[in-house]
Amino acid sequence: MSIRIMEAAELLSLNKFNIDEEQAHIVLDKEICSRCQDKPCLLVCPAALYRLDKNGDISFDYAGCLECGTCRVMCINRGIIKWEYPRGTFGISYRYG
Ligand code: SF4
Repeated sequence: MSIRIMEAAELLSLNKFNIDEEQAHIVLDKEICSRCQDKPCLLVCPAALYRLDKNGDISFDYAGCLECGTCRVMCINRGIIKWEYPRGTFGISYRYG
């Protein structure tokens, strides 16, 4: 019997997402984010959904969110002005692990 070790990215790719195109479950105030010096969201999101654009501003897309809540906890300057779980039937369906 052989055991196959899967990488984290491969495991995550097994999940299914039903994206709610009409209602974002996480909303940022870009003005607050632009003044935030630490930007912990860039480091803590396990799905790496927070990035810096070419102007140095936070770029974020809630599609692909794992609904872990880490960004909500770590957003010390309250740039995240809305964080809630996606509406029923939307969001992630974990497929493995
Ligand atoms: S809830 Fe988790 S996966 Fe979703 S954006 Fe925040 S840190 Fe990333």
